[in-house]
Amino acid sequence: MNKEEGLPKMDSNFDSLTGLYTSDAFYREATLLLKDSNGVEYNIVCLDISCFKIINDLFHMDTGDLILREAANYFKATLNPRTSISCRAEADHFILCIPTDELNLEKIIQDLDERIRSLHISHHILFFAGVYPVDKRDLGKLPISQMYDRARMALQRVKGSYQTRYAYYDAKMRDQMIDELMEKNNLEIALMEHEFTIFLQPIFNPRKNIVVSAEALVRWIHPVHGMISPGKFIPACEENGFIVRLDRFVWEEACRLQRKRLDEGKPIVPISVNLSRLNFYKDDLPEFLSSLMEKYNLEPWMLKLEVTESAYTDNRLQLLDMLSTFRNLGFTVLMDDFGAGYSSLNMLKDMPLDTVKVDMAFIRELEKSKRVAVILKFVVELAEELQMGVVIEGVETQFQCDYVASLGEVAIQGYFFSRPLPIRDYEALLDKFLVTKEDDSNAGN
Ligand code: C2E
Ligand code: CA
Ligand code: CA
Repeated sequence: MNKEEGLPKMDSNFDSLTGLYTSDAFYREATLLLKDSNGVEYNIVCLDISCFKIINDLFHMDTGDLILREAANYFKATLNPRTSISCRAEADHFILCIPTDELNLEKIIQDLDERIRSLHISHHILFFAGVYPVDKRDLGKLPISQMYDRARMALQRVKGSYQTRYAYYDAKMRDQMIDELMEKNNLEIALMEHEFTIFLQPIFNPRKNIVVSAEALVRWIHPVHGMISPGKFIPACEENGFIVRLDRFVWEEACRLQRKRLDEGKPIVPISVNLSRLNFYKDDLPEFLSSLMEKYNLEPWMLKLEVTESAYTDNRLQLLDMLSTFRNLGFTVLMDDFGAGYSSLNMLKDMPLDTVKVDMAFIRELEKSKRVAVILKFVVELAEELQMGVVIEGVETQFQCDYVASLGEVAIQGYFFSRPLPIRDYEALLDKFLVTKEDDSNAGN
């Protein structure tokens, strides 16, 4: 018996049954280990015993304990204590933090199976493993507990299959799992679990050097998979109808933020929110928006409504009716992604709109195409003639910013001025900008 295989240590950092680290202590130690890894590639491995519950039911609890101790003793005897650590997480889960060079899963699983077989328990007991290879970019960002969650997800893929006993978490698996998350009931759970939040992208007037408004953009921060792009989940939400709930959530978050700042005596700018086309099938839409104004004691100018052409192509009369109602209620209506679809000019002709937001595709080609420069110039003139505002989306460079600023009183939204920001950073930017805007001549850089 290895000298470390003695009695378990009595310490809150160690599991009293096996003497391995408890999960909290493991998370702490593994964080330190990875911090000092000096470029060594590490893995978080989750090991799990098949049918452990059945063993506890069929046999005496002692049998289960015996198996767990046997596995723990194996880890203590074989892992290099200078480079690897192990822990017993809940019940029959073990976690290892181990360098890639020292990880031989075939052998670990085979050895464990053998050790357990030597205990002569009349039940087939097998170990399964999931591995999360730590990415250099994770260091200092992704907590060990989430790496463990990912390893566990990989493990779920193989548990119970007798041919494959371990699996690695990889980008393909992430995509596959994210696809499964797009089912409506999973989206509902995510909303309930507060996994959705809003980011705000400030919109800037480059001539006056001020922030004029901001757009609320939804973000899904999944506890295991991290940030999921709206480009991925918005289309799924539009397909299954969940977008109506999600949009309403975003509007409410925007209102909540406005109210919070007002309560703190801080200045605000209007926040624009997206209204996906499915919203227009809900007759209570104007009432819902009004009820938000009432609930948060806000005035309608504080919330702007972005509508895309798809709502117009769906049902023009209904949209006309809705937009007129919004305006009568005092809301400002923006046409989003102007120029991206087929009927942008028709929509502009027929609908009561206050501002056009020129689709990003235009500015992207400014440097390459003289035509784009001309089109942008005329869109700004057109809007001015119609007494509408213009926002140019996707401005990323000084050249683009200077060009659109030369065209007239436009606002820009784009990475050049700011990316979409988490609420805290957005507030810091507003505090800085709305207080120091007069003397801050470097804004926009
Ligand atoms: P959108 O409404 O046109 O929003 C602007 C998108 O452009 C945002 O992407 C923003 O991050 C991105 N963007 C802003 N400036 C730049 C830039 O300079 N360069 C580049 N390359 N991109 C820039 P995001 O947040 O990924 O959203 C994508 C789309 O998802 C949105 O496009 C909108 O159609 C939809 N979306 C986002 N949030 C919501 C929401 O709450 N409700 C609905 N219905 N749709 C939403
Ligand atoms: Ca938008
Ligand atoms: Ca847009």
